[in-house]
Amino acid sequence: MQPIQDVLPLLQTPRKIFIITHHKPDGDAIGSMLALYHYLKKKGHEVAAITPGEIPDFLMWMPGVNELINFEEDQDAAKKALFESELIFCLDLNDFERTKYFGHHLSVAKQPKILIDHHLLPKPVWDYGLSIPEKSSTSEMVYDFINMCNDNHLIDIPIAECVYTGVMTDTGAFKFPITTSSVHLLVADLKKKGLNHTRIHELIYDTWSESRMRFLGYVLIEKMEIFPQYHAALITLSRKDMNLFNIQAGDTEGLVNYPLSILNITFATLITERTDEVKLSFRSKGNFDVSDFARKHFEGGGHFNASGGRSKTTLTDTIAYFKRILSDIHPQ
Ligand code: 5GP
Ligand code: MN
Repeated sequence: MQPIQDVLPLLQTPRKIFIITHHKPDGDAIGSMLALYHYLKKKGHEVAAITPGEIPDFLMWMPGVNELINFEEDQDAAKKALFESELIFCLDLNDFERTKYFGHHLSVAKQPKILIDHHLLPKPVWDYGLSIPEKSSTSEMVYDFINMCNDNHLIDIPIAECVYTGVMTDTGAFKFPITTSSVHLLVADLKKKGLNHTRIHELIYDTWSESRMRFLGYVLIEKMEIFPQYHAALITLSRKDMNLFNIQAGDTEGLVNYPLSILNITFATLITERTDEVKLSFRSKGNFDVSDFARKHFEGGGHFNASGGRSKTTLTDTIAYFKRILSDIHPQ
C-alpha cells in the first residue's frame, strides 16, 4: 500500500469518487464517511457515499445522511456509482468482507482503492492509504487527511459535527485509553469553529425510546451472567428477547459496555441472535486483546479493547462454546 500522500496528485482535478464503510455502520463509520463526503464535494469532486445496509436511527440526524445510498435498498444505484467512479475510498474497515454483500464488487473493481482505517491487521488489498491502529477513530484520520491537504479552513459546522460524532462514539465519549492529546486538540479546534458539542451528545445518547430503556433494565437483570473467577461478564440476547421489547436496529448499541462498570470486570461479551447468524461483541479493559480472541475463535477482529465476530451455529451452541473457551483464557 502506497502512502496516502501519493493520492493527492490524483485529486488535483475533479474526479468521480466512491466512498464506502462497513456493514452495520456505527457513529465512526457514518461520521468519517460523511465528513470525507462533504469535504471532497467542497473540493469540486462528484461523490457517491454508500452504506452496505441500514443506518441506525440514532445517526439519522447527521448532516447529509439522506444523501447516502443504502446498498441493501438500492443495489443498482450502489453498483452504478461504483462502476462509474474513478477512485474508491474505504473507511473504517480492514477487509472488503466487512462490507458484507458488497465485498465481491469491491474485490473485482479495477479503480485505485484507498484505505483510511484504524483497525488492526488490514488485508493487503488497497493501493493507497493509511492504517493507524493507534488512532482513536477513522473520523480523526479524516480530520488529519483534510489538514494534510492544507484545507483546515474548509472544515465547516457539518464536517465538524460528523468528525466529532465519530471521535466521540469511538472513544466512549473521550474515556478510552486511545483518547490522546491529539484528540483533545482536534476537539479544541472544532470548538473554535463553533461546534455545539452538547447538541451532539444529546442527539446520540439522549434519544432513547422508553422501550429501549426498559429493555436495558430487563437485560441487566435477566440476561447478564458474571464469572468473577475470569473477571468476565456475558450478555446473551435471543430473537425472542428482542421481540419482547420491539427492539430496533441500533438499540443494542453500547449494551456490551455496561458490565465493564462493575468492579473487577475487565472482559465483557454480548452474544446476539440475528436472522442469518449469531453476532458476538467483545470489550475489555487493560491488557486482554479481544481482537486476537475474536480472530481465533469467532472469525472476527477489530481493536485491542473492542472487537466482534460471528458464529454460524445456534445461539445455544455458541453460548456453550464461549463458556468452554472462557476457562482457557485469563483476562487480567
Ligand atoms: P461491535 O462490537 O461494535 O460490532 O464491533 C466492535 C469492533 O470490532 C468494531 O471496530 C468493528 O469494526 C469490529 N468488528 C465487529 N465485528 C467484526 C467482524 O465480524 N470482523 C471483524 N474483522 N471486525 C469486527
Ligand atoms: Mn472506528
